[in-house]
Amino acid sequence: RLGGDEFAVALHEAGEHEALLVAEEIRRHLAEHGIDPPAGVSVGIALFAADRELVADDLLTAADVALYDAKQAGGDQSRVYQGDTTAALGWVGRIRGALDEQRFVLYAQPILALADERVTHRELLVRMLSDDGDAILPGSFIPTAERFGLITEIDRWVTAQGLALAAQGEGVSINLSAHSMGDAGILEQVRCAARAAPAARAGLRPGQVIFEITETAAMTNMRDARAFAQCLNDLGCDLALDDFGTGFGSFSYLKHLPSRYLKIDIEFVRDLLANATDQRVVRAITDVGHSLGKLIIAEGVEDRDTLALLREYGVDYAQGLYLGAPQRITPPTHWERELRGVRTPAQQRAR
Ligand code: C2E
Ligand code: MG
Ligand code: MG
Repeated sequence: RLGGDEFAVALHEAGEHEALLVAEEIRRHLAEHGIDPPAGVSVGIALFAADRELVADDLLTAADVALYDAKQAGGDQSRVYQGDTTAALGWVGRIRGALDEQRFVLYAQPILALADERVTHRELLVRMLSDDGDAILPGSFIPTAERFGLITEIDRWVTAQGLALAAQGEGVSINLSAHSMGDAGILEQVRCAARAAPAARAGLRPGQVIFEITETAAMTNMRDARAFAQCLNDLGCDLALDDFGTGFGSFSYLKHLPSRYLKIDIEFVRDLLANATDQRVVRAITDVGHSLGKLIIAEGVEDRDTLALLREYGVDYAQGLYLGAPQRITPPTHWERELRGVRTPAQQRAR
């Protein structure tokens, strides 16, 4: 078991044909014996060739690329790694290029304390600029970045920006992928920021920086995650459990990770006014959270009545389009200025 719902099978003395047969058999077995809810099986196959200098890690990466292809093609099928550039590698290349060319930009969305309507923090939301300079939402590239080990570099970049804002006195909330938990580089960044001389009006106020963690299958080692969270706490940062209520183990996270905030997922907030189940869930999360000394943030607040109801339930903070949409905070990058430079005025007007 590689983690979450991922498994690897090593076949000795088998070629592509045999591997595909085994993959078929696994799929048939699962379809016949059924699990509930029904799940498909996507398989990525990589062949070890004795004449090439492959190590186990390369083989797993190659299988992973093939698996990604299988999923991109709709899932529940098998793909053999072909060793050439695939769709996934295209994205990997784009993300690497964006990292090299500084084509990531940040947006920020206010988080309001409901007691006094003050903005205490802003959540930093990353976007990647396409070749045309359009902002690509994280949903399009974060899964790939996580899959191919590029997310931590993105998270380090966002963290550096966030800490720079914090040094100017801002409250910031930074999203961290579960893959980045345990990253020594991020801890070092925070350590440096926390240590910065108070005379320079830098250093961090306690509670000024929040790290938001989403529960994912990637977080297989709760002990490491806990140690990482504890380090952040010791450095004066707070932890928020993001998208709370949507994962498989929200309450287990609540038990094991030292978090100060719970962010109720938009899924329970969107239809709050009309949906009695959502109302009970939001109240229950708020009550449980409060009884454990946590502060509750509701995300995805889109209208006044929802806000009023959340207030009535005792939710502490709110965030959403009604209170403020994410606004870009990164100034035009060098790359963007160059792009604009090569575009004719007519092309620019057309945008
Ligand atoms: P999230 O952390 O739960 O962020 C909230 C998402 O909801 C954001 O989407 C935000 O733009 C959107 N949103 C805010 N208010 C409203 C509202 O009233 N209605 C609706 N429908 N949506 C609202 P976005 O920016 O596309 O980000 C999606 C996810 O990508 C984030 O979910 C977060 O998990 C991830 N993400 C964003 N930035 C980073 C980052 O720097 N690092 C990592 N690892 N993940 C990030
Ligand atoms: Mg978040
Ligand atoms: Mg969220």
